[in-house]
Amino acid sequence: MDGNGERAQVVVLGGGITGLLAGWHLRQQGYNPTVWEASAAPGGWAQTLPWPGPAGEPGSLERGPQGLLVSRGGAMDRLLRALAIELRPSRPKGPRWLGKAGRRHPGLASLPGVLRAPGLGLGEKLRMLAEPFIPAGSRPEETLHAFFARRLGEGFARELLPALVAGVLAALPERLGLEAAPRLKRLEAHGGLVLGALRTGLERTRQPVGGTGALAQALAERLGGVSTGRAAMALEPLPGGQWRVHGNGPHVEAGAVVLALPAPAAAGLLRPFAPGVAAELAAIPHLDLRVWHSRHPMVQGWERGLGLLVHPPEGRGLLGAVSFAADDPRGVSDLLQLRAYVGGAYPVDPALAAWPGVFRELHRWLPELGEALQVREEACPGAFPMLEPGHGARVARVLQGLPPGLHWLGAARFGPGIPHLAEGVEVWAGALPRVGLT
Ligand SMILES: Cc1cc2nc3c(=O)[nH]c(=O)nc-3n(C[C@H](O)[C@H](O)[C@H](O)COP(=O)(O)OP(=O)(O)OC[C@H]3O[C@@H](n4cnc5c(N)ncnc54)[C@H](O)[C@@H]3O)c2cc1C
Repeated sequence: MDGNGERAQVVVLGGGITGLLAGWHLRQQGYNPTVWEASAAPGGWAQTLPWPGPAGEPGSLERGPQGLLVSRGGAMDRLLRALAIELRPSRPKGPRWLGKAGRRHPGLASLPGVLRAPGLGLGEKLRMLAEPFIPAGSRPEETLHAFFARRLGEGFARELLPALVAGVLAALPERLGLEAAPRLKRLEAHGGLVLGALRTGLERTRQPVGGTGALAQALAERLGGVSTGRAAMALEPLPGGQWRVHGNGPHVEAGAVVLALPAPAAAGLLRPFAPGVAAELAAIPHLDLRVWHSRHPMVQGWERGLGLLVHPPEGRGLLGAVSFAADDPRGVSDLLQLRAYVGGAYPVDPALAAWPGVFRELHRWLPELGEALQVREEACPGAFPMLEPGHGARVARVLQGLPPGLHWLGAARFGPGIPHLAEGVEVWAGALPRVGLT
């Protein structure tokens, strides 16, 4: 090694949840990882940011996830227990309304909501209730639309699914593969949506006390710190299977490098010496999202939170609006804290590029909503990988083509949510004692 560099056993590039999880598991196995994070703080999208109220009251907002889906005994559950993270229920439990055909309809989280679902005939509603009797069996390269049409019927897939998928994954169900929702595959393997949920355990949305950012903080603390402000700019293969990472500071040499980066960033580093793998990663579309945070006078009846998903194409551009409950420590008491999503796989209507347009649209669906007292926009460029049909085969090609000593982890490999990352990184780390780090 030349005199200008550092030496590490293993370098993790990216200090989002994926990189923090990778570092934490490596630590548990006796490795001494160094984690590089380009920005000033660890956590990536999973950060709880301070946002004082109008009179300077303490308050915060979530940059990304507001709640985590936790199933008892699953990887997320194990992780939260191992980190001794205190949880509170997250409200609302599901979207309370569906915006469709110019009207607000009850959400689909309850049986009455399903039975009153808009746009569906009686036969289509009965077809939905027949789901437990549909034989299980996965289909290769099935889209989310095809999956739900098979299990719940064409009516559900046509009339209700687009709003649910737009609000959660920011894309059309016809463009997404089952890899975008890995739990569906597991449920199918256990008999279907209803039987699978009964057999594998129901999932509940939970919120770490202190916000989702508390998870990133706890991981970073257990790791003994993250090198923030260190962006990886180039990777260089060295003789003897070693790697040199160049960044905005001293370079570092290590026997193994973990790429815990969004796929486009990983592609940029791999391009000079693994162009095939880089091209595969660069071909994964990533969606830009804008999130408008706002605070409004409380509306009677909404104290415990509200949820609204707007059906595309009517809600094209306005994907959903979810509020913090009045008793949520992240909010400011007596104010309704709301966020609205704009963008994803949908072209942004120019009318929604500024707050007055977003408010007008929200007000159309939620006429009770008063003028905002505070507004803040958070841009989320490349927020979600869009996992299309055939994505699983692409992941397999990437893993096969990666040079020895390099590891690739992240949402584009394991699925778009934090529970998918918790599970995927756990499985990756579990295989290390067998295969080692190279
Ligand atoms: C608005 C929004 C809402 C969401 N809601 C939910 C939800 O409700 N539930 C859920 O489970 N998930 C949700 N997600 C998804 C979840 O936040 C992500 O899956 C997860 O945070 C991704 O973590 P990551 O570490 O893989 O990537 P990121 O969070 O993107 O972290 C990657 C890190 O790498 C760093 N980096 C980039 N380039 C370099 C470089 N060259 N060198 C060093 N570091 C670099 C970045 O600065 C970043 O910190 C949401 C996401 C968004 C944006």
